Amino acid sequence: MTDKCPLCNISPKDIISSSRDFFIANAKNKKGHRERIMVVSSRHVTYVPSWLEGHAVDWLIKVGRLVFAYSPKIVILSPMYGSVQNHWHYVATDLDPKADDFEQILKTYWVKHVENI
Ligand SMILES: [Zn+2]
Repeated sequence: MTDKCPLCNISPKDIISSSRDFFIANAKNKKGHRERIMVVSSRHVTYVPSWLEGHAVDWLIKVGRLVFAYSPKIVILSPMYGSVQNHWHYVATDLDPKADDFEQILKTYWVKHVENI
């Protein structure tokens, strides 16, 4: 936990669900998307072991299928353009071409994409 980290200091009202190792929360800036959520490490760390990361991604997809029920595709973005680089998290988004960051989404490596149909 650090005072300046926005993910350590996220508002409880933005948290959708939490477990021992991670929580899922609404992203503060939706960048023009109807929904934008993220899975965040409960601890202020830059690295999460790959097996645990797999669980986090699976959980983000499970919650995402409900949150993004309106969207035929869900994309999990690598944090290459993320504004917080020192606290592990992955963002999930729809693929709305009218969103503010659509071009950037296309330039970002996708950790995973999911057919939500
Ligand atoms: Zn943090």
